[in-house]
Amino acid sequence: MSDVLDLTIDLIRRPSVTPDDHGCQQLLAERLARAGFATEHLRYGEVDNLWARHGTDGPVLVFLGHTDVVPPGPLDKWTSPPFEPTIRGGKLYGRGAADMKSGVAAMTLALEAFVAAHPQHRGTIALLVTSDEEGPTNVDGVRRVVEEFRRRGQRIDWCVVGEPSSAQKFGDVMRVGRRGSLSAHLTVRGVQGHVAYPDKVKNPIHLAAPALAELAATKWDEGNAEFPPTSMQISNVHAGTGALNVVPGTLDVDFNFRYCTESTAESLRERVDAILRRHGLDFDVAWDLSGAPFLTREGALRVAASAAIRELCGIAPEANTGGGTSDGRFIAPLGAEVVELGPINASIHKIDEHVSIAELEKLPALFLRIAEKLFA
Ligand SMILES: [Zn+2]
Repeated sequence: MSDVLDLTIDLIRRPSVTPDDHGCQQLLAERLARAGFATEHLRYGEVDNLWARHGTDGPVLVFLGHTDVVPPGPLDKWTSPPFEPTIRGGKLYGRGAADMKSGVAAMTLALEAFVAAHPQHRGTIALLVTSDEEGPTNVDGVRRVVEEFRRRGQRIDWCVVGEPSSAQKFGDVMRVGRRGSLSAHLTVRGVQGHVAYPDKVKNPIHLAAPALAELAATKWDEGNAEFPPTSMQISNVHAGTGALNVVPGTLDVDFNFRYCTESTAESLRERVDAILRRHGLDFDVAWDLSGAPFLTREGALRVAASAAIRELCGIAPEANTGGGTSDGRFIAPLGAEVVELGPINASIHKIDEHVSIAELEKLPALFLRIAEKLFA
């Protein structure tokens, strides 16, 4: 059995459902300490975070991942138990096989191999893993670690997130950013009254309708080479008391922006405000920014990662900004180039989650090659 398969199996055996790390990070820390890394456990609330680094100066390359997994769901639906890693037909099955204990194992082995081959390397090479990536809030995971890094002045130049990014073939997709998400709850005030006395009411539905039409028709930006244009979608509209003869006093509307780097949360807020004011509405908007967009432009990290994929997988990866969120969004604001790169994501969070063993065995070499290209 290969080292990476061995370590992945060891990790899957630990049922580390968010935020319980279940000893995964201790295992990684012991290995990396033996390889000469300085390791540090940052525990916040219920969450374990491991920071292990080798080298003391810049530039800084960080491999980022998570040891937590989503719950397995109904156990009787699994062909083999989710926390008893099982090999069938060239695939390794178990919760976390793809998302992302294979990536964590491969990143750890790549770090060990890099330091063994280049004990006097320039710069700093590190692993950062958290046990709270899959949870609903992610407050005490990488977000909190990054706050600590800001206090310490810890820089990060390049960040490789070993999340399952591949779609059809291993190495076909490399994530280089993601859109921002900005939500709004709009309340428009009118004056309630009898429908038969239009001069005594102010109908918030009538007043808001043209403004909503203008919001829906607005082109917020044109997008760019990496992102589609910003889109706004209204998800809920509510007004009315239920009675047919009452003009309601208020109208409530929820809408959300998925926005690209051509707009900012601030510019969108201002433009929405201006439209609502121009229509003479009496209104309030409560905004909630769940994540700013980020984009890693073609630079040292993207060049190194693309070249490493071409060499090891024989294909040129597509750089895109699709998919859900990852902890890369917390690292990017430090000024780091961030790419997300890992196995096929078709089975993640599902029953019978699995990873191809052939792909898994290529993964440490891929991460190692990226590090060597950056520090060459
Ligand atoms: Zn993940």
